[in-house]
Amino acid sequence: MKATRISGGSAEPPAFRGDAGAGRLPLLGVIPARLRRAARLASAGHADLLLQRACAALRLPPFPTRFPSVLVIEPTNRCNLRCPLCPTGSGRLPREARDMTLAEFRSIVEQARGRSLLVQLFFCGEPFLNDDLFAMIRCAAQLGIAVETSTNGMLLSSERVREEIVASGLRHLILSLDGADQETLQAYRAGARFETIAAGVRALVETRDRVAARAGGGGSARVPTIELQMIVMKQNEHQRSAMLALARDWGVDWFTEKTLSLMGSPLDDPQANATARGLLPKEPDASRFRVAADGRLAAKERPGHCRLIHQTAVILSNGTVVPCCYDGEGNHPLGNVFESRLEDIWNGEGLRAFRSLVHAHRDRVPMCTGCPEGRRPLVLRRTRL
Ligand code: SF4
Ligand code: SF4
Repeated sequence: MKATRISGGSAEPPAFRGDAGAGRLPLLGVIPARLRRAARLASAGHADLLLQRACAALRLPPFPTRFPSVLVIEPTNRCNLRCPLCPTGSGRLPREARDMTLAEFRSIVEQARGRSLLVQLFFCGEPFLNDDLFAMIRCAAQLGIAVETSTNGMLLSSERVREEIVASGLRHLILSLDGADQETLQAYRAGARFETIAAGVRALVETRDRVAARAGGGGSARVPTIELQMIVMKQNEHQRSAMLALARDWGVDWFTEKTLSLMGSPLDDPQANATARGLLPKEPDASRFRVAADGRLAAKERPGHCRLIHQTAVILSNGTVVPCCYDGEGNHPLGNVFESRLEDIWNGEGLRAFRSLVHAHRDRVPMCTGCPEGRRPLVLRRTRL
């Protein structure tokens, strides 16, 4: 799963929306929701994020937070699919295949206790391939940090995986599915089996709802919400309604349509440009790109501020910190969190210089040229079911 998420401020992670934390301590249930929210806002992470959002609303330039509000942590860079625009799926990832260990993960999140709000536990790989994933989720949850992860759905066929998704304290699960039948799905998600995924999701929702019902009225707060996500492309744009119907039928909580991303490839990369052009939907409003006079893909608009590099730290499975989730290849290493404190890297000279470069000359950073950050939102529509 390639992480592309809360860029542009438009795709607020559902983990921030609900009152899920109240389910963990029964006594919290008697405190009015407004007071609970106010108490949470007192944390440094929330205060930083609120200020960032105020700046975005007023179109003011972003500022770096004292510590990242959100951590993207890559549990593995291995995957069982071969999506053509993904660095892992296309085989162009220049990094050694590696799983992060539980001890390494713990060393990161212990630094983030009381400071970061959310761990997005996925990046360039299928998270459920890491056998320690659920221990990682438990570890972060015990430290009071919400966790969401994302999957291509193939490993939901495992009963153990489904049970652990529900029991581990995971806040939110994203299921990336780009077609309502086998033929459409495999046009992009090479190697995926629609029936395997469909059966897995149905069984997961059944398990989730059974556990929530058993826990009683407030029990639903203890189990993860599930979001079905599709990237709107040429081969599946006719299935947007069918995908929404599928999400309803399966009983998931959210259905999200996203626009195609170059996933970190520069716009002038001939191979990525041609691949993306071949996937571009016919519906003009469903894409952030246009076809230029020379037949190549071009961005529709000039970019605004990049806010992502001021809020989110991205940590690869080998501990390398990179500027954002469009640097899956690790072309801009800023330090290693297994060797230095995350706070030092976050406030260090390397990241400060990179932020200045992107702010002043974004067009000179190849991966920024095709990036949606500061342009129209990556998310086309998010529907609460
Ligand atoms: S499912 Fe596709 S996009 Fe996600 S990591 Fe695997 S190859 Fe990449
Ligand atoms: S690719 Fe560039 S513009 Fe996009 S999020 Fe990363 S640093 Fe910001």
